[in-house]
Amino acid sequence: MNGPLVILKLLKKTYPNAKYYLDFKTSLDLMVAAILSAQVRDEVVNECTKELFNHYKTASDYTKASVDDLLKYVSKVTFAGNKAKNIIAACKLLVEKHNGKVPKTIDELIDLPGIGRKTAIVILTNAFNIVDGVVVDTHVIRTSYRLGWTKNSNPEKIENDLNALIPKDWWKQTQWLLKAHGRAVCRAPVPVCSSCAIANFCPKAGVEKSN
Ligand code: SF4
Repeated sequence: MNGPLVILKLLKKTYPNAKYYLDFKTSLDLMVAAILSAQVRDEVVNECTKELFNHYKTASDYTKASVDDLLKYVSKVTFAGNKAKNIIAACKLLVEKHNGKVPKTIDELIDLPGIGRKTAIVILTNAFNIVDGVVVDTHVIRTSYRLGWTKNSNPEKIENDLNALIPKDWWKQTQWLLKAHGRAVCRAPVPVCSSCAIANFCPKAGVEKSN
């Protein structure tokens, strides 16, 4: 069994309820939540989208909204105005080019305003179960570096490193598990290595003492 797999299995035992944290019912909900989530805690996004999703159910609904209309629901997220603008523009493209549906390829998704590669993979993985790579968020960047799974800081290079190291059937849950671990124990800026279930496998174990 390869090293990362041993660690991921231990993390799965430690965080059996780890899952994708943003609330959504449809792929459109997830696209909107994912656009809102850049540099915002998931709890804040979920709080905003509860009401937003009750009012806007289709891409066409969003195309009829103004930025101010959306701000009534999403003003608590950072860069709310820009994100609201991107949501409306993305939904206009969905209506014009994709029959109002969220597309199912990375290339089509990254054509939409407010959606980069990470967000595209998030949508494909969690809305459609199309797993094209490991989602690399801030927790994945930090924990995978500490675990020695990558020496890169560029998210696309980190994704390539992780895709090569981790068996494909674990790609989907890798982000869920590393995020759960990053929030609970392998925190920024200082990890709590003394409470870490995978310390025996980590080259940076004990780093807390040297900080
Ligand atoms: S031993 Fe420390 S640095 Fe390594 S994964 Fe655990 S908490 Fe993170």
